[in-house]
Amino acid sequence: MKILLDPGHGGRDPGAIGVPLSNLASETGAGERIKEKDVTLAVALSAAVALRELGYTVLLTREADVEVPLHARTGLALAQQVDAYISIHANAGGGTGCEVWYQEGNEPSRAFAAALAQGVSDLNLVPNRGLKAGSAATRTNWYTFSRLAHDALLELAFLDHEADALRLHQEPERFAQGIVNAVRTHLPPPASTQTSWELEKQQLIAQRDAMLAQIQRELMSDRTDLAYAIRIANGATNPKDLGGMSRAERLRELNTKWAGKI
Ligand SMILES: [Zn+2]
Repeated sequence: MKILLDPGHGGRDPGAIGVPLSNLASETGAGERIKEKDVTLAVALSAAVALRELGYTVLLTREADVEVPLHARTGLALAQQVDAYISIHANAGGGTGCEVWYQEGNEPSRAFAAALAQGVSDLNLVPNRGLKAGSAATRTNWYTFSRLAHDALLELAFLDHEADALRLHQEPERFAQGIVNAVRTHLPPPASTQTSWELEKQQLIAQRDAMLAQIQRELMSDRTDLAYAIRIANGATNPKDLGGMSRAERLRELNTKWAGKI
């Protein structure tokens, strides 16, 4: 499963500008306002880490504060033939909550958009405003649908709504988790559900357990030998008390193993 995450805007294009950061109890910037390009990048990077941990192949249209033309974003989705293309944006203009856009008529994408809306709204971060059907004509200034089977655009929340903006500013990784949850419920699992790290961890745990079992066996055997030595010192002769051996046999056994030590 190959997923393209597309953090909206970047570079000279800040996207939507929201409430002052000082309103969000942020230590940064007098007069600075929350910017869509920063929020979308934080959420995308966090989602990429989480999805890769699950074994998904994740591509990003940008990983820094740089400008990427729209046609390059959609072009990457098409050139790479990704299984899912998730464009991440944040709203402004009066309102609250998350909404997800899909291309009108693209039914698989509508279902994927619904899963994304559900994934985010299940975490109770912001209200669920539901789905919006778009067309090339209505969304063309900042987004182009790829026409892929799983192609959706998330408007995470409203940057000019204080409670929404606070959530986005403080918990981008939870919005990312909403995206991850939607991918997990809606898309097939990655080819190998185990990442190499998970396999390596399991091997290390198995090695450790084998070593512990070996030490345990050696300790038990030493304790048994010690018990025989004490019994022999106390004059035991009955093979029943000496693990089925005669006193002479047991002494020979102990001397072979513990020569010079007992
Ligand atoms: Zn945007």
